Amino acid sequence: MPKRIAIIGGGISGLTAAFALEEKRRAGVPVEYVVYEANPRLGGVIVTERVEGCLVEAGPDSFLTEKPWAADLCREIGLGDQLIGSNDRQRKTYVIAKGKLIMMPDGLMFMVPTKILPMVFSPLFSLRTKVRMAGEWFHPPHQAKSDESVAELVERHYGAEMVDLLADPLLSGVYGGEASQLSVRAVLPRFADMEAKHGSLGRAMLLARKKTAATAKDASPPLFTSLKEGMQQMVDALLAHLDANSLRPSTLVQSVIPQEGGWTVSAGYQSDQFDGLIIATPAPAASVLLQMANENLSRDLGEIRYSSSVTITLCYDDNVRRSLPPGFGFLVPRSEGRRMLAATFVHNKFPYRAPEDRALVRCFLGGTRDEQILHSSHDEILKIVRDELKLILGLAAEPLFARIYKWKGAMAQYGVDHLERGQRIESLRKKLPGLALAGNTFTGIGVPDCIRSGKEAAIKMLAAIGLEDSAA
Ligand SMILES: Cc1cc2nc3c(=O)[nH]c(=O)nc-3n(C[C@H](O)[C@H](O)[C@H](O)COP(=O)(O)OP(=O)(O)OC[C@H]3O[C@@H](n4cnc5c(N)ncnc54)[C@H](O)[C@@H]3O)c2cc1C
Repeated sequence: MPKRIAIIGGGISGLTAAFALEEKRRAGVPVEYVVYEANPRLGGVIVTERVEGCLVEAGPDSFLTEKPWAADLCREIGLGDQLIGSNDRQRKTYVIAKGKLIMMPDGLMFMVPTKILPMVFSPLFSLRTKVRMAGEWFHPPHQAKSDESVAELVERHYGAEMVDLLADPLLSGVYGGEASQLSVRAVLPRFADMEAKHGSLGRAMLLARKKTAATAKDASPPLFTSLKEGMQQMVDALLAHLDANSLRPSTLVQSVIPQEGGWTVSAGYQSDQFDGLIIATPAPAASVLLQMANENLSRDLGEIRYSSSVTITLCYDDNVRRSLPPGFGFLVPRSEGRRMLAATFVHNKFPYRAPEDRALVRCFLGGTRDEQILHSSHDEILKIVRDELKLILGLAAEPLFARIYKWKGAMAQYGVDHLERGQRIESLRKKLPGLALAGNTFTGIGVPDCIRSGKEAAIKMLAAIGLEDSAA
């Protein structure tokens, strides 16, 4: 009899776990799997729509090229020739400062200045911050006794203005969270290591860049990678590789109970028995599911905060396209008092997204500071975004179409206690045989990390139920 594995959550993490099991099944390993997904469609927050010749991403629009797991998966599922890079020759990003678009100076790596002259001449920073940047070069090595927030580390090196202008908006783009709440060790471990070893983040970044340049065979790869037909291509290709009879869309799992060396999974009026269980949902859902299995594990998972996000894509005509600034888009620091967090000029960032005579502007709202945006109607959200685009870009034109997507509780917040909690969760998980956890809750929120977590969960599970040795 083949061993049976339940996967709860049909986002990219769960689907990757299913794909890894399917590959083993096809190779003759006696395993079966069932993917439970509460929504009618699989793919989770990865949704791509075609609207009037434009490609609109509702959730993620790309992934970081330096994290290989997403592109590797794409190649495995036959999408190697569909991978596209961001148009990095046009990679300029603006920051709104006192209502004006100011270009991020050359030489900023994430938020670390590595070139002196562009910083000196940039109108973005005050004289005080520029003096701090110069002094940072001589920052002594520092080993923090315990974890701290990203804001604490950045402020120690560059002052509070850097947190407001760059750290906060950059992190809110990735996590929908604030630099003062997010853990350095969980979110930017490289920064903590660089500070401990070199003191100055600027010097450490330059050294790292020189090393990479010395070993790199090709010209530097694009910062972001996506797919010609959008991120959903990945979901569609995964689904085409899976056994359709193993997929249970529109099936909300209510409880999981460890029983007789396996798990009973209950959804609606149906219960089914499995040898192993992979939970690939956001942590709050995992917490509810595991309430009866282990109270402490459930509590720890339930305490991980999530933020919500709203994306709004507006399409404009050729006149607007020609009037918009070049570059990938802009960030809005909190001190500007706007609700918009950032906007992307999609037609510049990637090829294959909009016809030559159309502009696509994708705006982001929400995050930990503005959960109430979820209660606003689409008309209200559209008004907020159009009013702010008018103030920021002078963009008053009527959009040709607008698409709004609300994502409630989609982004895990890696707080200052995240790593400790993660270790506790891992040791509690190990006490429940045949349980694996995947998703954006633990070791990375981006699509590549979710893919890695899904694959690792499948491999761990096969070992746990005796189908592969743990070294596999
Ligand atoms: C707006 C937005 C933009 C983003 N942009 C990027 C980006 O550009 N690049 C990048 O790398 N990452 C980005 N991310 C992050 C990344 O997309 C996500 O972290 C990742 O896709 C999460 O995948 P997942 O499978 O872990 O979770 P999800 O996609 O959330 O899937 C989990 C699934 O579990 C299901 N589920 C929950 N509870 C149950 C239950 N009890 N029974 C059955 N099913 C259940 C849900 O319905 C859901 O479909 C973005 C995220 C958002 C929201």
